[in-house]
Amino acid sequence: MHPDLEKMIALQNLDLEVRRLTEEMAELPKRVASRAADHDKARKQLATINDDLAKEETLRRRQELDIKDHRQKAARLRKQMDVVTTTAQAAALEHEISFAETEIGRLEDAELESMERTEQLEAAKTTSEETAQNLAQAHAAESSRAKEILERDRASLAEVNAKRNELRPTIGEDALAIYDRVAKSRGTALSEGVDQRCSACQMMVRPQRWNDLRDRSNDELMLTCESCGRLLYWDPARDAPQKKPSRNESIAASIVRAL
Ligand SMILES: [Zn+2]
Repeated sequence: MHPDLEKMIALQNLDLEVRRLTEEMAELPKRVASRAADHDKARKQLATINDDLAKEETLRRRQELDIKDHRQKAARLRKQMDVVTTTAQAAALEHEISFAETEIGRLEDAELESMERTEQLEAAKTTSEETAQNLAQAHAAESSRAKEILERDRASLAEVNAKRNELRPTIGEDALAIYDRVAKSRGTALSEGVDQRCSACQMMVRPQRWNDLRDRSNDELMLTCESCGRLLYWDPARDAPQKKPSRNESIAASIVRAL
């Protein structure tokens, strides 16, 4: 294999790690924000329940005052009954007393209904408080988790970038130019040839090219995939009696060799 290829395999892995870390770091605040939104929603729900509870209490206070008024009025009217002189006056008073009593009954029923609503709201409040508390904890946990990962990622990123900066100048200028150009347009610049195919774009590699790629004496040759333009490499360990378990592991081994 061309010595630059081995270094570029390592470089590609470092570049992919930079990308992974950068994406992870960008994702962290979004997750925290999502937990914060959940917590906020629960807090608002709890605030609405508390408002409704306060409204019911205000309603009942007013109902009680109204009941008191009607009772006082009924009592006053009953006293007047003692001094009425005509049946018409008595009938009018009775009508008013009956109206006051009906109102008292209606208000008492309404007060009971309000108390039932309060009971339901109190139950909802308990649940809502628990939910808000759990979500507050989840939010706090996500925040501190994000902070830890962010610190770890920043350190890793610095480390990977340092390795990258060390590795890049050791690669031939032309090879590096191809690497940068293809990586920019394709995301990755290198592709392993496996079973006569480019493993990145899955296109067949022509037999002559495939033979050239596998020719171990061809250390000065650098081949590109005719379809996607990525630099092709071939890992001889794949043909060894003990096949390598995965492509990633073989890349990892290449990095160790290159660094
Ligand atoms: Zn390809």
